[in-house]
Amino acid sequence: MPVYAADGLLACHACDCLHRIVAVPARAKALCRRCGALLYRNMPRSLDHSAALYLAALILFLLANTFPFVALQYGDRIEQSLLVSGGFALQRAGMGEIGLLVFLTSVVFPFLTICGMLYLLLPLRFGYRPPWMTPVWRLVRSLSPWSLIGVFMLGLLVSVVKLQDLAAIVPGVAFYAFIGLLVVSAAAVASFDPAVLWPRMGPVPDNDAASAAADSAAALGYAVCSTCDLLVRRPAADVRWVCPRCGSAVHGMRVPNSISRTWALLGSAALLLVPANLYPVMTVTRFGQGEPNTILSGVVHLVQDGAWPLGLLVFFASFIVPLSKIAVLVLLLVTVQRESAWRLRDRTLLYRVTEVVGAWSMVDIFLVGIMVALVRMDGLATVYPGIGASFFGAAVVLTMMAAHAFDPRLVWDRAASGHQEQGGQRHE
Ligand SMILES: [Zn+2]
Ligand SMILES: [Zn+2]
Repeated sequence: MPVYAADGLLACHACDCLHRIVAVPARAKALCRRCGALLYRNMPRSLDHSAALYLAALILFLLANTFPFVALQYGDRIEQSLLVSGGFALQRAGMGEIGLLVFLTSVVFPFLTICGMLYLLLPLRFGYRPPWMTPVWRLVRSLSPWSLIGVFMLGLLVSVVKLQDLAAIVPGVAFYAFIGLLVVSAAAVASFDPAVLWPRMGPVPDNDAASAAADSAAALGYAVCSTCDLLVRRPAADVRWVCPRCGSAVHGMRVPNSISRTWALLGSAALLLVPANLYPVMTVTRFGQGEPNTILSGVVHLVQDGAWPLGLLVFFASFIVPLSKIAVLVLLLVTVQRESAWRLRDRTLLYRVTEVVGAWSMVDIFLVGIMVALVRMDGLATVYPGIGASFFGAAVVLTMMAAHAFDPRLVWDRAASGHQEQGGQRHE
């Protein structure tokens, strides 16, 4: 199967700009000529590398989940915890929904992502296509933004600092396996080229279609398959629009109801952020005494303990990021609705950054889960989760869903419809 179909077309996922697919040198990137987003990379032996790395990730994942993760040593008392303890401890403390969120994002989703990738890559490595490629890939693609092992690791780091004057922290085998998992899975993601599964083949263009200076695939009647990224032409008759390669339904040229869904999710997230910051996220008691901590007072404690770089990091992740994410998405929605042509490239970049950074707000949720799981020495010290954590968790999930619901291609559509004169002069 040719990876680069010489005369195929490809649409930018961020702005829908149409490109001819050309071969690029090894390890080089092809960027969108209009918005600068990454279109594809040429990665030699991507299949070999990514299959091996995902295999290593699976082994490290299993090690990280079977051996003790960290132990808390207080005098001659030792409390051991497993990686999964966080979710279950929250559930025992009566906060099952947050426990489930921690369990899903730190254990279940990473596991399903790794297994799904191996299911796809290993058979391909040995020369045959696995059955059910489409549903498995769709699952992997929808879960990967929600597998947050890096954020979990940061939460653990913060909890170690918070607990250092309470007890000694002894890392277990699983702790080192988890660090390995973090590195290996990042390398696996970086070495994977989607063209291994779905070769970059657009439709063979009509001569006039490709030469017409079309700034969007939609203008020529093409939509991008949301599963395998193939460009699919709108069917002439009134039949169901289906991707000919992977069989997924094509839901039109843009994410359906993107603007109204993003507004609704953002509004709910903004409302939830109020109680999330007013109510305590956890209470640390020592010898029966302790005061509830909100997100911000937790940051203040970190700074007072001298851990100001970490305090700053938590402040940024749990306070600045959610607020600026909401502000950025509101800005994007308003400018799209006003059909503004203002700083199109910068707005696209802003969206990309928002989407990537948003997940790090989960660090406070993981912190609460880890602290509740680790510190359960009756009489000496205990950590109780607070209702603020539930509000905060819900707010973070909603802002992440809002970012996924927003279709960045609308930024360019609306601008193009308002300012037609910008379209004509494009060069390859
Ligand atoms: Zn683009
Ligand atoms: Zn498809």
